[in-house]
Amino acid sequence: MSRSDDVAEVAGQKDEDVRPFLAAIASSSNDAIIGKDRRGKITYWNAAAERLFGYPASEIIGQSVSRIIPPDRATEEMSILDRVGSGEYLAHFETKRVTKDGRIIPVSLTLSPILGPDGAVIGISDIARDLSETQRLAEAFQQREALLRSILDSNPDGFIVIGESGIIKIFSAAAERMFGYAAAEVVGRNVSMLMPEPYSAAHDGYMQRYRDTGDRRIIGIGRVVAGLRKDGTTFPMDLQIGEATAPGERRFTGFVRDLTERENRDRRLAELQSELMHVARLSELGQMASALAHEVNQPLTAVANYLRGMRRLLNDDSPPLLRQGIEKVAEQTERARAIVQSLRSLVKKEERPRSAEDLEALVLETAALVLAGMSRRVALIQDIPADAQAVFIDRVQVQQVLLNLMRNGVEAMEGRPLQRLTVRARRVGERVEIAVADTGSGLSDEVQARLFQPFVTTKADGLGVGLSICRTIVESHGSQLTVTSVPEQGTTFLFDVPAAPGLGAQAEPL
Ligand code: ADP
Repeated sequence: MSRSDDVAEVAGQKDEDVRPFLAAIASSSNDAIIGKDRRGKITYWNAAAERLFGYPASEIIGQSVSRIIPPDRATEEMSILDRVGSGEYLAHFETKRVTKDGRIIPVSLTLSPILGPDGAVIGISDIARDLSETQRLAEAFQQREALLRSILDSNPDGFIVIGESGIIKIFSAAAERMFGYAAAEVVGRNVSMLMPEPYSAAHDGYMQRYRDTGDRRIIGIGRVVAGLRKDGTTFPMDLQIGEATAPGERRFTGFVRDLTERENRDRRLAELQSELMHVARLSELGQMASALAHEVNQPLTAVANYLRGMRRLLNDDSPPLLRQGIEKVAEQTERARAIVQSLRSLVKKEERPRSAEDLEALVLETAALVLAGMSRRVALIQDIPADAQAVFIDRVQVQQVLLNLMRNGVEAMEGRPLQRLTVRARRVGERVEIAVADTGSGLSDEVQARLFQPFVTTKADGLGVGLSICRTIVESHGSQLTVTSVPEQGTTFLFDVPAAPGLGAQAEPL
């Protein structure tokens, strides 16, 4: 059978005129075209096959196709001959071939049966495309992609690529850490899932507008936006968006930097600074307090002496009210001396004795002191559950804190329609959290910023040292005094103290 006969039969045409055309096409094809019979004997070999495998047609026609098959692919070829021999068509089958000089090359084969006039398979046509270049390109591409990936993945900034309609295409390792999603969970979904409302809902609109008008709101500029993690929490992030100008669909690249870290660092610095200032303040305060204690101690000692004298003058005929009054004055004088004493030991950083105390009784007593002589309009709400009652504290100091906070609260509510002072306690593990809340004026930003510094006051007769002393005392009990305030609605101060060992635990077994 001649070569042109084969070609004509492949085309299924008997027209003699077609043959030279087909022969020309086959011989000028860039793909190697090989004809073989059902047993694998080569019957046709075009110019591209000569170039690819290195055998001239004259040398290989009539030889077995196994000449170009690597030994480890022999069984594969047998099964191909079998399948195509029985009429099957195989397209783009990737395998390896061996050249005359022994090089192994990757090829893509398309195999079809050649049918005789009666429809029986008389041979097989084998179109082989050299994949060396494609494979080299693919490998080079893969290498570049791996390099890019490793650069992106080792970058602490997250990297996200989205398509024109906002669909996520690439999600780097850092982005996974930042948002708490695995790449597989987000790739293919809309990037708006990474933003909280209302940005999420508006995002498609932004993208649409950019596509329609080219109006750049954020591209190439970058700004701080909110990110939404998988767990529903949000975080501030710095977002830089670029636009990839490769052919095909537009791609937007985004670098995201989690600012929580930076904010934490800034906050930590501020804390350290304020701790330092606090120490400085304490020594200032300390100097003032010891001077004050010294000054106040003298008149107090005198008052105590006079009282002793007056008590001696009292007899059975003295009016009971006078007797009671003098007793009260004596009690309060004792209290004043104890406070002065505690101020001094605070300054000296003396370890003051701690004891188990009943918080409810302490609050009641303090409320009595605060509300004495105040307008009756103040409603006191005391909410101290059984398991929060026993506390292990320096009684005088903690009472001082409660007194300051409650008095400030009452003063802030003066003249207001709703005057409610709430003291709430709550057991939290080994500690008791205490909140003092009022329905007063709230704090101005200016006051709040410097609230715990000494000598900050808005009161005509205020000293402005109450809260800074409270803070010192709360810290010496291992806590922080914090405040939340809503203007025109009220202010809440919060701190905690150790629970008394053994007592509260009964109410809340661990
Ligand atoms: P003083 O009461 O002597 O002014 P403080 O240190 O106790 O000093 O308080 C400082 C300032 O903080 C007060 O003057 C007041 O402006 C503000 N403040 C404290 N507590 C409250 C509160 N509960 N509501 C509103 N403002 C408050």
